[in-house]
Amino acid sequence: MSDTLTGGCLCGAIRYRYDGALGAAFNCHCSICRRSAGAPFLARMTLNSAELAFDKGAPKYRHSSADGRRGFCPDCGTQLFFVFDGEPELIYSTVASHDRPNQTPPRVDLYARDRLAWVVRDPALGHFDEMPPDWPL
Ligand SMILES: [Zn+2]
Ligand SMILES: [Zn+2]
Repeated sequence: MSDTLTGGCLCGAIRYRYDGALGAAFNCHCSICRRSAGAPFLARMTLNSAELAFDKGAPKYRHSSADGRRGFCPDCGTQLFFVFDGEPELIYSTVASHDRPNQTPPRVDLYARDRLAWVVRDPALGHFDEMPPDWPL
């Protein structure tokens, strides 16, 4: 796919663009995604850090665990990215911050063991109790 992916935060202070290959999108049910987003789960997409650029603003990063940071808008709080400290070449966008989220639907549930009891499982999606060691698939 060669379409440029664009997105940003709720208030518009941060606008990003991405011209690289689109990675697999997934729903992350882990408790850290849940708490940090204030949402039952987070849909995210694996992107190559080198091909992500900002047209406006830049996220503020904060460690949400010992080995990972989340980038969010310091003005409106929208969560935009996640980066593992040991894997800086990859960056995980929040699909809901994309301008066209319907074009990048999640294909799998990750950390499905942590899914809330009232979040209905979509049988069409792949299903992993954690993040597969060979991610991105
Ligand atoms: Zn904002
Ligand atoms: Zn997660």
